[in-house]
Amino acid sequence: MIKLTLEEQKIASKIKRLKDAAGSHSPSIFTICEKLPELEIKVDACFLSNPYATELFLDYLKKDLIDTNKLKDVLEFYPSQNGVIADVISKSIDVDSKNIFVGNGAIEVIQAVMHNFVEKRVIVNIPTFSSYYEFARGDTEVIYYQLKKDENFVLDIKNYIDFVKSKKPDSIVIINPNNPDGGYIKYKDLRFILNNLKEIKNIIIDESFIHFAFEDDEYNLISATELFKEFSNVIVIKSLSKDFGIAGIRAGYGVMDQYKV
Ligand SMILES: *Cc1c(COP(=O)(O)O)cnc(C)c1O
Repeated sequence: MIKLTLEEQKIASKIKRLKDAAGSHSPSIFTICEKLPELEIKVDACFLSNPYATELFLDYLKKDLIDTNKLKDVLEFYPSQNGVIADVISKSIDVDSKNIFVGNGAIEVIQAVMHNFVEKRVIVNIPTFSSYYEFARGDTEVIYYQLKKDENFVLDIKNYIDFVKSKKPDSIVIINPNNPDGGYIKYKDLRFILNNLKEIKNIIIDESFIHFAFEDDEYNLISATELFKEFSNVIVIKSLSKDFGIAGIRAGYGVMDQYKV
């Protein structure tokens, strides 16, 4: 047991109160700074950030919006609607815009998918990004597939497929690479899973960290974005918060069969 001083105990109970009030996630660093000015925060270990990418983003922001005086327009006027934004994303990921669902952060896409497509039963690998069970509807049963610590949280593909087949869910969630453990399923293994689970109605693949993963020693990257063309049950979800370092902007999208968009 760690022994806290009286002062530390006070701070700890204040943090606990903030946490209880924050809902599913930790309070933001802004809330903690405001409510606990006595704390000197060095690292925010509750939320992920990518300061290198944020720096790069700021360079572009300055060059493209501030130096050109376009920032005022961007702030003053309503933005283009999602169809237009989907067109922009379409060009960079090479997927038709009618297959792209734009969200206010990937969280919004996750919520929409969990509410609209996931039905009676979903399998979520654990440990995982909590939104996938927090946004499950009241009438959706969440079944956890436990990744094992002594196997370094690596997904045992065959065992997983057997588990899914035995539970007969309508939906499964694969975060690749996984948050929080970074476990990565190589492209050919992912295809193996998809080929063996064609009966599952929704296979949700969250690729929010795909830009940190690689397939081989040459750092080649393979995204699953295109797989929905071959497997109509695939829904790919992508946050821009981590790789582009822009969590504050709330930008994310989903790629899926066009009848779902
Ligand atoms: C952070 C995260 C999200 C949410 O991303 P936002 O775009 O910030 O809403 C979704 N999925 C995973 C796996 C994440 O780690």
